Amino acid sequence: MKLMHTTEVRALVELQARDRAVDDLAGKIASVPEEIGGINRAFEEKKDSMNAAKETLVRLQVEKKSKELAIAEKDEEIRKHQRDLNMVKENNAFKALLSEIETAKKAKDDIETEILGLMDDVDKAGIEDKKLQQEVKKLEEEKNRRVKELEAAKINFEAALEAARAARAEAAAKISEAVLEKYEFIRAQRKGLAIAHIKEDKTGHISCGGCNMGLTAQKIVDVKTHDALVFCDNCQRMIYLDKTVYG
Ligand SMILES: [Zn+2]
Repeated sequence: MKLMHTTEVRALVELQARDRAVDDLAGKIASVPEEIGGINRAFEEKKDSMNAAKETLVRLQVEKKSKELAIAEKDEEIRKHQRDLNMVKENNAFKALLSEIETAKKAKDDIETEILGLMDDVDKAGIEDKKLQQEVKKLEEEKNRRVKELEAAKINFEAALEAARAARAEAAAKISEAVLEKYEFIRAQRKGLAIAHIKEDKTGHISCGGCNMGLTAQKIVDVKTHDALVFCDNCQRMIYLDKTVYG
């Protein structure tokens, strides 16, 4: 495979561009479900934090309610002791009841202080709950809109991919089977770049456009030969001079 017509080089360069278009579209199509998955996960996370905030609010409300019941119990206890005060005759029993009433009143005060703190907590939790509910609603709308957009884009990409594959087949048909096989092999080995043009910088240094390694003097002579198929010694890619192909 020493000879390669310049028309074939041109066809290979075109084929490579078509292959890239196909890969690019296939990549875009593959990324759609990933992106939708990410959007759904972010939404579920937000919903989890909304549910956690709701749980906190309910827990605090239940706690406040139970403290209020405890207050009612203390009131009842105080009333009962006060009724008993009228019935006891002994001084010691009377004193003991007064002491019980004091203890109950003190306990009631403590619970009332706790309730005040809880009322603050319930207010804050209520604000957080409302805020997260609004955020979830907004995020759900955004999610639905974005998913719809992505699904529509995917349909367009799929149509474009079909067209790109047809164009790719058309380009491949212009190339001999042996060269095409070589191209496919190198492309698979070299991350999609099978054929690279040769670069020449201002100082006259000539290098492979695929791996940037300088070419040997013999290689430079080879690539200037008309219709010769040349490979880079370093990366094994097919290399060509723009001016010999397009010049
Ligand atoms: Zn190279």
